[in-house]
Amino acid sequence: MILCDCHDHSWFSFDAVSNIDEMCRGAASAGVRILALTEHYDYDDRGGERHYGLRHARRMEEMKLAKAAWADRLELLCGIEIGQPHLDPERSRRFVSEGGFDVVIGSLHDLRPGRDLYRDFDYSSLAVCDAVYAQFFDEAEEMLEACDFDVFGHFDYPLRMMEKSVPEGSMLRWKERMLPFLKRLAQSGKALEINTSGVRRWLGRPGGEAWLLDAYRQSGGRRISVGSDAHRGRDVGTGIEAAYRQLLRSGFDSVTVYRGRRPEQISIR
Ligand SMILES: [Zn+2]
Ligand SMILES: [Zn+2]
Repeated sequence: MILCDCHDHSWFSFDAVSNIDEMCRGAASAGVRILALTEHYDYDDRGGERHYGLRHARRMEEMKLAKAAWADRLELLCGIEIGQPHLDPERSRRFVSEGGFDVVIGSLHDLRPGRDLYRDFDYSSLAVCDAVYAQFFDEAEEMLEACDFDVFGHFDYPLRMMEKSVPEGSMLRWKERMLPFLKRLAQSGKALEINTSGVRRWLGRPGGEAWLLDAYRQSGGRRISVGSDAHRGRDVGTGIEAAYRQLLRSGFDSVTVYRGRRPEQISIR
C-alpha cells in the first residue's frame, strides 16, 4: 500500500508554518510516499497575488531542490489550491496553465459576495447551514463548468464549522443537493477529494461517507484524491489510511495522483 497525501501546505501558503523540508520530513516519518504540496492561491484579498503570487518563483526553485534531496524517500509533487477560480475564470486558467503544476485543486473558501466561509457565517443557526450548502453546491457546479482544475477540494469545508448545529458531522442533511453535484463531478472527469483533516478535528474521521462514495461511483466517478490538508509537518499523513479503508469498503481499490496534470491510478491495497 502506497500512502499518497495530495493536499498539503508549506509556509508558501499564507496560513501555514512549516518549510518544504519540514513537510517532507513529516511525510517521511508518517510513511507517506507521495506528497503533493498544494499552496493556497485564492481569488480574493487573502492568499492570492499578495502572498503566493509574490513567492511563486522562489517556491518553484525550492521545490526543485527538495524534489532532488528527497528523491530516494519521497515523490514530491508541486500543486496549487485555487480558491474561487470561478470569480475570474480567464485569469485562473492563465495562472494554472503558466504555473507548471502537477496538480490543481479547486476549492471554495468564500461564497459570493466575498463572504469567508470560516468567519462570516453564524453556523449556530441550522437555517444558515442549509443556506450555505445550497449556495456552496451552486458555486461548485459553476466552477466545474467554467474552470480548469483537477480535483474538487474538501466538499465538507463548511461542515468543519457546524459542530453545534450538525453534531452528527454528516453531509446526509444535504444529500438531495449533493447527489446531482457528485454526478456532474463524475461526468466532468475531475476527481473527488476525500479530505482527512476531520480526523484532527471534532469530526474524528475523514469525509468519505459510504453513501456519497457509492453515489459518486454509481455515476461513473473513478477518480478520488486523498489529502490531509496539513498546514505543518507533523500533521502530514494523518487520516490517509482511514480514508483508504473507507474507499476500499465502497469498492474503490485505487486513488488518483496527478503528475504534470495527468491522472494516474495508484493501488491502495
Ligand atoms: Zn489553509
Ligand atoms: Zn482549502
